[in-house]
Amino acid sequence: MKFKYVIVGAGLAGLTMAERIANVMNEKVLVIEKRSHIGGNVYDSYNDDGILIHNYGPHIFHTNDKGVYQYLSKFTKWNDFWHRVLTYVDGNLVPMPITVETINKLYKLNLSCSQVEEFLKEQAEDISEIKTSRDVALSKVGRDIYEKIFETYTRKQWGVDPGDLDTSVISRIPIRLNRDTRYFADKYQGMPSHGYTRMCENMVANKNIKIMLNTDYKEVIDQIEYDKMIYTGPTDEFYNYKHGKLSYRSIQFQFETFDKEEFQEAPVVNYPNDYDYTRITEFKKLTWQEHKKTTICKEFPCSEGEPYYPFPTKDCKARFALYEEDMKKEENVLFLGRLAEYRYYNMDAVVRRALDLFLEVSS
Ligand code: FAD
Ligand code: UDP
Repeated sequence: MKFKYVIVGAGLAGLTMAERIANVMNEKVLVIEKRSHIGGNVYDSYNDDGILIHNYGPHIFHTNDKGVYQYLSKFTKWNDFWHRVLTYVDGNLVPMPITVETINKLYKLNLSCSQVEEFLKEQAEDISEIKTSRDVALSKVGRDIYEKIFETYTRKQWGVDPGDLDTSVISRIPIRLNRDTRYFADKYQGMPSHGYTRMCENMVANKNIKIMLNTDYKEVIDQIEYDKMIYTGPTDEFYNYKHGKLSYRSIQFQFETFDKEEFQEAPVVNYPNDYDYTRITEFKKLTWQEHKKTTICKEFPCSEGEPYYPFPTKDCKARFALYEEDMKKEENVLFLGRLAEYRYYNMDAVVRRALDLFLEVSS
């Protein structure tokens, strides 16, 4: 059988492309995935106790992109979920991101919104050129809050000082001069009502789509006839590491189930300064599942293991730029997604990229 398109990787990037090619172009498409399941890192499943867990860490859908929201809404209904995070500092749980509540709780004050603005202005350091994630934090909140909330968390998460990471990392976290304690402020937020895996299954329910699981594409690609490849795996692997390895940050996920209904006060609690893990997620608080037990996940960041986060340092970006030169020369391969483009994309950004790429290839 000949396929017009072969897609490497059944994450959100690959599945969005497969869905569009199969449904809009009515072409046959083969998806090759080395894991035993579809969904990539958004995969969720029921554990032995019957609790729905996110196997690769907590995933919360949030976007301001109406097109992406409408697109995914064809495959799932949503629970109207507004994510909340607490962070454990000096023995107290305070809201993240930093809001008026956070400052008042941290410093045992009772400031108004405008007083908090003044307070942060006094704390903030004057940095002429913002070059790193450390500069971002110091220039917005000053040294004390930087040390309490960002410095050690970031060292744990990335294994380097925030001064070695580009501005994009800590810039993900807003500073709010109001009392909005939601983790994300985006217009559309939610949890797929029946989980991400069900959503992904609905995306690929089309007889034009064939999926080969448990298969590294390199083992089979020579035996497959196709016109174009859409590659969503790591770029360095595609090129047999000819310019050296790209660094990715990995995480060991440690799941624990307790014989009680509730474990913690919020869906996610961050631990910037205590323990080796960065955060604990309690899944029932994301999914609203009712169950007499509860399952949590502790995240232990590490450098070896599955590639989850592209590493935003100067050296890594320079190395990726070498690969990008090769990527531009490919005539039959399109590179897409968090691993292939080496970008710290959220789910919505990956779907947007895939929808845009589809328009390019189909026009
Ligand atoms: P992936 O999901 O990584 O898919 C790539 C697929 O390619 C994988 O399944 C992989 O097995 C496969 N593959 C690789 N090499 C090969 C090969 N040689 N042969 C065959 N298959 C191969 N985003 C949000 O919007 N909200 C969140 O709350 C959020 N939380 C996150 C928490 C964690 C811990 C992590 C790691 C990410 C989180 N994200 C979140 C980001 C989200 O996971 C990504 O944006 C999205 O999954 C990227 O999709 P992708 O298809 O590009 O990559
Ligand atoms: N961060 C931090 N303290 C926190 C939460 C986040 O220093 O309590 C920093 C850390 O460097 C992290 C980045 O902000 O990698 C982005 O946080 P986010 O919650 O977006 O991380 P993700 O969910 O992508 O792992």
